[in-house]
Amino acid sequence: MELKALCMKCRNAENKPTMQVMKDPKVEEKNNRYSAKGQCSVCGGNMFKFMSKADAEALK
Ligand SMILES: [Zn+2]
Repeated sequence: MELKALCMKCRNAENKPTMQVMKDPKVEEKNNRYSAKGQCSVCGGNMFKFMSKADAEALK
């Protein structure tokens, strides 16, 4: 499954963060909230995204 998240470093012409593919996503669960951490496939910067439980289960 391909996971996309906003990358704060990859900005468009309007200087807004853009959606990029997350590399090596690691799913974390905390207080029943799911999130994924990984690296941007374009610039290698750290990425973070909150996810639904269903999406988190699909990534495991
Ligand atoms: Zn990036």
